[in-house]
Amino acid sequence: MAKLIPKPKMSAAEAAYVPEIAKGLRVTIGRFLKNTFTPRTSESNEIDTVDYPEEKRVYPERFRGIHRLTHRADGSPRCVACLCCSTACPAQCIHIEPAEYGPDDPRHGYERYPSVFVIDELRCIFCGFCVEACPCDAIRMDSGMHMPPSTRREHFIFDKVTLMAIPGADGTFETANPRHEPGDPTHPGVDREHH
Ligand code: SF4
Ligand code: SF4
Repeated sequence: MAKLIPKPKMSAAEAAYVPEIAKGLRVTIGRFLKNTFTPRTSESNEIDTVDYPEEKRVYPERFRGIHRLTHRADGSPRCVACLCCSTACPAQCIHIEPAEYGPDDPRHGYERYPSVFVIDELRCIFCGFCVEACPCDAIRMDSGMHMPPSTRREHFIFDKVTLMAIPGADGTFETANPRHEPGDPTHPGVDREHH
């Protein structure tokens, strides 16, 4: 049911507009003077603007930036192409084509890898569902970078090579979470063989 909200009545001073204009100018001039006369080297962070792009604000630790695919110790992707992230993605902007490791690889028969992994960063709504859905900590949004602007749509299509070339905000390509590789006693595939 619609609710009618009465139009607020203006006082005589508000109706005259001049005092209201003076109030607005006071805020504008106050900001101008503060930004002009506060030293740029101030560490008290009292200035309301930054000289972007030379100066950048540090994003909070939990900021969701552009994606990266994390590495294993041997440099291969942690991703096992389970498709959980692409299934959870509400924007349907992740495309994965799974492939099998060859017979000479200890991961053969246990795990898959993404032969194709593409994210359309232009379509992404940066909800983080893909990161939450991943059982392998293989996809992260902790790069600390927002998507740089571009006039070409293809610049927003990040393939596997691009995603694996993006480091975390700490400069590393791996994650602190342990992985249980095939061959390790802790790997569930080995456990299955022993039962
Ligand atoms: S952050 Fe959200 S929209 Fe973007 S790829 Fe992940 S699940 Fe999809
Ligand atoms: S990134 Fe994670 S959730 Fe997505 S396919 Fe790879 S292992 Fe599965």
